[in-house]
Amino acid sequence: MTGKELNAQDDCIFCKIIAGDFNTDFVYQDDYVVAFDDISPQAPVHTLIVPRQHVINLEDNPDPELLKHLFSAVSKVAQIKGVNESGYRIIQNNGRGAGQTVFHLHVHVLGGKRFSEGMA
Ligand code: AMP
Ligand code: ZN
Repeated sequence: MTGKELNAQDDCIFCKIIAGDFNTDFVYQDDYVVAFDDISPQAPVHTLIVPRQHVINLEDNPDPELLKHLFSAVSKVAQIKGVNESGYRIIQNNGRGAGQTVFHLHVHVLGGKRFSEGMA
């Protein structure tokens, strides 16, 4: 574990993925985040961007520096996945009521299809 992988939680699936326990292919990685494809894709492109540090969600007082790196990775991932020109949607769920099922902060990057103009 590097200094950036703070607070790794034994029972957290994303901490295990970040630690390399499942030999997951990383679409992108840097000192702060890793990105990997969602196991249950909801669009032709569905990639998750996950901070190396275990933070539950935006209500868990994440370091603004970490958020800067998390959101800076979005366009890089979109380029790598080839959806930066066609367009992509990002989703980030906070809490069970919003549909969060993995309690390690992450941003969904969805693309490769035409989305409706609504939000829900
Ligand atoms: P959320 O509902 O916002 O918490 O999103 C959690 C996402 O993690 C879902 O889209 C799941 O399909 C995805 N997911 C859960 N386990 C894995 C895994 N082992 N590898 C990749 N994606 C996963
Ligand atoms: Zn975690």
